[in-house]
Amino acid sequence: MNKDRLQTALQDIPLGGLRFYEQIGSTNDIALSWGNEGGQDFSIVIANEQLAGRGRNGRIWQTPPDSALAFSLLLLPNSHEEKNISLFTGLGALALVETLRKYYALDAKIKWPNDVLINGKKLAGILVETNWHGDKIKNIIVGMGVNIYKNSVPEDLLFPATSLEENINNKADRVLLLHQILESFLKWRSSLRKEELHKAWEKNLAFRGQQVQIHARDGQIIQEGKILGINQDGSLRLDTHPSIHFGDVHLRPIQV
Ligand code: ATP
Repeated sequence: MNKDRLQTALQDIPLGGLRFYEQIGSTNDIALSWGNEGGQDFSIVIANEQLAGRGRNGRIWQTPPDSALAFSLLLLPNSHEEKNISLFTGLGALALVETLRKYYALDAKIKWPNDVLINGKKLAGILVETNWHGDKIKNIIVGMGVNIYKNSVPEDLLFPATSLEENINNKADRVLLLHQILESFLKWRSSLRKEELHKAWEKNLAFRGQQVQIHARDGQIIQEGKILGINQDGSLRLDTHPSIHFGDVHLRPIQV
C-alpha cells in the first residue's frame, strides 16, 4: 500500500482529500485535526501502521505494520446528519458487513455497538468521534480498523479475534477492500435514518434472539436479556430493557 496506488485505485470515489501515512499514532487523531484545519467533507486518512490506534474509551486498537486496513473518514455533517450522529457507528459497520457479504461471501455480523464479527470473532472495530464548534457538531470522524492478514490479530484478547485472510481462500487486497467499503458507505450515508438503514443494521445484529449480558467497564453485569433489535437512535433493545445506550458498556453472549 502506498499513496500512488491508493490515489489511482480510489480515483472514482468522490473524496475530499487523501492522506496516507506509513506509520502514525492514530488515523482518528489526524482526521480530527484535519477537520479543525478546514479539511473537506469525505476526506480520508489511511495508515499502514498505527502506534496508538484507539478503541472506545481510550482502549487500544492494535494495527501492526503491513497487516491491517486502518482508516478514518472526515465528514462535515449536514443538519440532518448532525442530529443523527448515533447512527454513524452502525453506518460504518454496515458498510463493512455489506462489503464482506457481497464480495467475499462472508456472513459478517455487527456486535452492538461497534464491532464486526465473523463466526463470533472480532474482525473489525469502528470508532466514531466528533469535533465541536460551540454547541454545534463541526465534524464526524468514522474510524475503522479491519484485521486483514493473520499477523494483524493480537494475542491474549478478552474477546476472540480473527482476520480476513483466515476466512477467505484468496489473499485479500487492502486497497480493493477499502474501495468496496467506501462505495457502500456512500450508499448508506445517503439513506441515513431511513427505515432501510435501520432495518439492515438490525438484520445484521450479532446474537439477535439470544441471551446476552451487558457488562460495565469493571466487568459488573448491569443488564441481562434477549436481544430483540435496535431502536431508531441506535440504542439496543433487550426483552428486559427498552434501550441500552452506547456508553462504556460491553456486550457478551451467554452460552446456553
Ligand atoms: P469488547 O470487545 O470488550 O466488547 P469494545 O467493543 O468496546 O469492547 P473497542 O473499544 O471497540 O472494544 O476496541 C478495543 C478493544 O479491542 C481492546 O481493548 C482489545 O481488547 C481489542 N482489540 C485491540 N486491537 C484489536 C484487533 N486488531 N483486533 C481485534 N480486537 C482488538
